[in-house]
Amino acid sequence: MNMKRTTKTKPVEPLPPVVFDSKLALEMFEKRKARNAKIEKVDNASLYAGSPMTYYCRHCGELTAELPEGYLGKPRTICEPCEVLRAHGLI
Ligand SMILES: [Zn+2]
Repeated sequence: MNMKRTTKTKPVEPLPPVVFDSKLALEMFEKRKARNAKIEKVDNASLYAGSPMTYYCRHCGELTAELPEGYLGKPRTICEPCEVLRAHGLI
């Protein structure tokens, strides 16, 4: 019985390097911030008991979470794009 393997694994092509464009990322950050500055934010303290709590990114004001009151986890206070900026030491 011929046990010779006939299938060859194709070499995996290396992924292109991911280039982080800090200038573009900061431009997008400024746009987000300007846009969110115009949006009226929900003031959790002014709501009646039992209302869901609304959270915004502390850097750009983007809505990050709407959670029921009494939610036990830690609400997200930084949005994903700002998290990337922070990881790159830009904010
Ligand atoms: Zn943000």
